[in-house]
Amino acid sequence: MERKPEAGGIPQTFARCTECGTIYPAQLTDDDNLRPVGTDGSCSCGNDEFEPPALQ
Ligand SMILES: [Zn+2]
Repeated sequence: MERKPEAGGIPQTFARCTECGTIYPAQLTDDDNLRPVGTDGSCSCGNDEFEPPALQ
């Protein structure tokens, strides 16, 4: 990750749910966690752990 968030609420990257694989637009938090934008911070499946999707 070379880019750093510059403004709140704008997706910077993508996050994939580690449980169901759903991909959300996301922000990278200050402590290097992925936070999906437009949710309460967890996936619709209830999981709150995300990982970067595989790069193409
Ligand atoms: Zn999920």
